[in-house]
Amino acid sequence: MLYINGEWIKTEDKMDVFNPATGELIESVSTGGKEYAKQAIQDAKEAFKTWKKLTAKERGSYLAKAAEIMKSKADQLAETITKENGKPLPDAKGEVASGIEHLEWYAEEAKRVYGDTVPASSPDRQLLVIKQPIGVCGAITPWNFPLSMITRKIAPAIAAGCTVVLKPAPDTPLSAIHVFECFHEAGLPKGVINLVIGPAEEIGHELTSSSDVRKISFTGSTMVGKKLLKDSADTVKKVSMELGGHAPYIVFDDADLDLAVDGILASKFKNAGQTCISTNRIYVHENVADEFSEKLAAKVSKLSVGNGIEDNVDVGPVITQAAISKVKNHVEDAVKNNGKVLTGGKVHAKSEAGGNFFEPTVIANANESMLIASEETFGPVAPIFTFKDEEEIVEKANHPTYGLAAYCFTSNLGRSMRMMQELEFGIVGINDTSPGGVQAPFGGVKESGIGKEGGQYGIREYLEEKAVSIRLV
Ligand code: NAP
Repeated sequence: MLYINGEWIKTEDKMDVFNPATGELIESVSTGGKEYAKQAIQDAKEAFKTWKKLTAKERGSYLAKAAEIMKSKADQLAETITKENGKPLPDAKGEVASGIEHLEWYAEEAKRVYGDTVPASSPDRQLLVIKQPIGVCGAITPWNFPLSMITRKIAPAIAAGCTVVLKPAPDTPLSAIHVFECFHEAGLPKGVINLVIGPAEEIGHELTSSSDVRKISFTGSTMVGKKLLKDSADTVKKVSMELGGHAPYIVFDDADLDLAVDGILASKFKNAGQTCISTNRIYVHENVADEFSEKLAAKVSKLSVGNGIEDNVDVGPVITQAAISKVKNHVEDAVKNNGKVLTGGKVHAKSEAGGNFFEPTVIANANESMLIASEETFGPVAPIFTFKDEEEIVEKANHPTYGLAAYCFTSNLGRSMRMMQELEFGIVGINDTSPGGVQAPFGGVKESGIGKEGGQYGIREYLEEKAVSIRLV
């Protein structure tokens, strides 16, 4: 269903949503293309006139109400995420909790959009900087966090006083519909948020080419992000781009190896490796590489693979058959280039019943010539490279293209501080694979993105500063 100007809209055109764990059809949802996107933009423009004039407290109260409604439906929302995305239910519950946290945070952050009084250059002038919402925002989201990626955009945008037209990923539109239901029940004024599910190019073109849309916030691949950046140039829009990554995971020989091994279980195998900040390259100091590899392979071989709706599943399916093919290709290429499979390495037998399962895989003896060394695998495959010294590893870890997240395990404080400074990434975890939270700025450098989501930083992306000079006549 589409949601435009406060109304749920059914259309003749339909799109099927499948369960990646079973291959079964979950639901057919209505879709709409450019005419609907155009209408949604006009309604968002109209709504902006009044929404921006509400007090921050009033806007925040709608977010707080939506958060309460989301809490009351948390189990149902989590089940929907698991069904359409495949992640295990406890992880889906975690995603819903994160979505709620974003609503709650920005319900409060709305009230903290302060301006400045700036010393003027002459005594008869008063110079002020006021912050104002940018206007109608186009938001485009991926399938890997089908709920929290939406709340991370909508919450700061509407807290700031902007209005939104959202296009979610076609694989996971049901979570998007649920988020909109929460806002609808919260009584959010019509037109403030609008949902258009449908063909990406058409909707994307309407959003990027319309001069009524003043901002594009996108999360997805670097390739699509670049296209949207180019398309937004003609109307000189503000943009936030949360793009792809290629995270290094560096384990020094002074690290707590068990901690580092457990970190991989979270950073590589959660969400079946389909997270933008997932580890892609594990670099282990040669003195401890064998011990680390053995411990990791032993733990990974015990991970249970299956339908995330069932109990005790660690790794769910990947999103599509195309994703399976990419993962398989990366593993085959690694083997061809002297990689040694320590565990896994194949399409999982459970796929025979219709799901998209790949065996949790560890590959030792990884090297720079492998595809896996430079491309995002987006699957449950952990390649282990080795290194000799700190200087060498900083150079290797700093990817020429990507700069989203990096991880480093060491017990040396000086080294921790050096790595924090030298790693060219937007997010660095030192002995930590969950380097974030609602309060922290999330985003990349280089081709991993522009702008931040989260905390006080996230709301700035939806505001413009206006300089006001008052002559004291
Ligand atoms: P994707 O192919 O770039 O798609 C993301 C969204 O963009 C989908 O809704 C997609 O819709 C839409 N889209 C594609 N082409 C478009 C166009 N021409 N105009 C407008 N919209 C368009 O990415 P994905 O495969 O879904 O997600 C995985 C990627 O996202 C990975 O690279 C991952 O690292 C990145 N990611 C980054 C972050 C971050 O915060 N940095 C977070 C999560 C994911 P259609 O599917 O209908 O084409």
